[in-house]
Amino acid sequence: MIKAVVGANWGDEGKGKITDMLAKEADIIVRYQGGANAGHTIVNDYGKFALHTMPSGVFYDHTTSIIGNGVALSIPTLIEEMNSIVSKGVPKPKLLVSDRAQMVMSYHILFDQYEEERLGKKSFGSTKSGIAPFYSDKFAKIGFQVSELFHEDTLMDKIERVCATKNVLLEHLYHKPLLVPQDIYRELMGYKEMIAPYVADVSLYLWNALKDGKNILLEGQLGALKDPDHGIYPMVTSSSTLAGYGAIGAGVPPYAIEKVVTVCKAYSSAVGAGAFVSEIFGEEADELRRRGGDGGEFGATTGRPRRMGWFDVVASKYGCRLQGTTDVAFTVLDVLGYLDEIPVCVAYEIDGEITTEFPTTGMLEKAKPVIEKLPGWKCDIRGIRKYEELPEACRNYIEFIEERIGFPITMISNGPGRDDIIMR
Ligand code: GDP
Repeated sequence: MIKAVVGANWGDEGKGKITDMLAKEADIIVRYQGGANAGHTIVNDYGKFALHTMPSGVFYDHTTSIIGNGVALSIPTLIEEMNSIVSKGVPKPKLLVSDRAQMVMSYHILFDQYEEERLGKKSFGSTKSGIAPFYSDKFAKIGFQVSELFHEDTLMDKIERVCATKNVLLEHLYHKPLLVPQDIYRELMGYKEMIAPYVADVSLYLWNALKDGKNILLEGQLGALKDPDHGIYPMVTSSSTLAGYGAIGAGVPPYAIEKVVTVCKAYSSAVGAGAFVSEIFGEEADELRRRGGDGGEFGATTGRPRRMGWFDVVASKYGCRLQGTTDVAFTVLDVLGYLDEIPVCVAYEIDGEITTEFPTTGMLEKAKPVIEKLPGWKCDIRGIRKYEELPEACRNYIEFIEERIGFPITMISNGPGRDDIIMR
């Protein structure tokens, strides 16, 4: 059986924590999209970790961690991350990397930087990890698949072709040093040495695991609103963030994804540019940012302060629908305990019309939040393990949101730790 853990919002919903928690009952955890551009923060018995590439199941020794074909694979980052967690006392993870995954090259990272530099104020707020240039190359069919590392005879030819097109841009658009084919070859051979012990036919492995009745978790990166098709294009990421893409990015049958756990934050946060209707500013935002997450809302990869906002019913309802949600995991609820009243964005006003359906980007830019305020509970709810023991105002907040988004909230996360969870 396959369960996917995905985000309803703009990312940073706490998927890492929920995956880490669900991984207890899983045999295999798969990353199926995205790259090292976002991170998950996980707090467990070994300490606090920011993972960028490794699946969040790496801390259990009964699980196998898999990098699926859909991932933008940065081999140096993966190996570095593995070494760093092992050095903190975590048992060496069982790791498999798809032979069909493609590799983020050093020039992808350079192109990402050059393009953001060129765009200046109009930049996308990329984390400059090479993700957009990587996926562009993948679909332009000039990317390098892990399997190609093992066909050295044809590699040099391809490298020369790739360098020829890249160098036109480097010379005439960016005015930067050109790529040298021999350097790229050496880079790839370095990757081969690092990755060879882990390379596998991942879709076959997963197919057999399914036949053996194993429990598989697919771990999504970012959230529905960053999906290139269904998100706030063009302020989106470059690979699909939806559970449905798990079938492709891991190479598993779509019908095998029986559960979709959509992680939804009790307030909003976003990184990068783009419309963010329920955004708040000034002291109100600073306070929520300071109190948010586990020690503040700052990017796990970049350290950038996140943009903050109140819960957005319109965006979350849409995000949950696109994910194909069977269960909502409602997170960071404990953070809201300081508020007398909790504002919720219940609808958008666009050109004088009220809607609860999430529009395309042009309309979204014009949307103004319609705010409703709910009573706060004014206490610390961490440590509570039973739904009935939550303060009434807190249950009312959960039930109000559940009713408005139209998907069942079956898990409530009231702290960063593995056990800070209320099952409903
Ligand atoms: P992800 O990318 O979706 O995994 O999310 P991040 O790791 O960027 O953000 C989640 C942050 O919130 C991390 O610092 C978590 O430790 C923390 N966190 C997760 N769930 C909760 C929760 O229920 N309460 C609090 N206070 N922090 C949480």
